[in-house]
Amino acid sequence: MVDILGQRCPLHILIAEDNQLNWRILQRILKKLGYDSKVVENGLDAVDATEAALAEARPYDLILMDIQMPKMDGIMATQEIFSRLPIEQQPQVVIVTANATPEYIEICRRIGTHGLVTKPIDKQRIADTLERCYQDAHKNS
Ligand SMILES: [Mg+2]
Repeated sequence: MVDILGQRCPLHILIAEDNQLNWRILQRILKKLGYDSKVVENGLDAVDATEAALAEARPYDLILMDIQMPKMDGIMATQEIFSRLPIEQQPQVVIVTANATPEYIEICRRIGTHGLVTKPIDKQRIADTLERCYQDAHKNS
């Protein structure tokens, strides 16, 4: 029997990434793991999409967030989302970046993201991250 992660660990996922090649790769990996995902290409749209999904009673469980994006970067978008929503309604945010400098790692930790995945994007690391996010979201239920 094939173990499909998306069935075992279902998550509603938003990708916030301005580079089309990157989001296509990420979306393809998610598809192979059994997840549908929506894409936005800047931080401002990530904030709007998060609120819209909540208003439609289908909140995102996880945002895979690039850092460098137009209009609003991923760090600011994450802070905006966390400041606008009560904690029980906040999605988990995992930063996806090619610039995993100690400074960025520290910023990500400080603003309360749920981890950082480095580019180039690796399928196994994405799978491990999704599984961990699912377990974190369900550890009290
Ligand atoms: Mg970018």
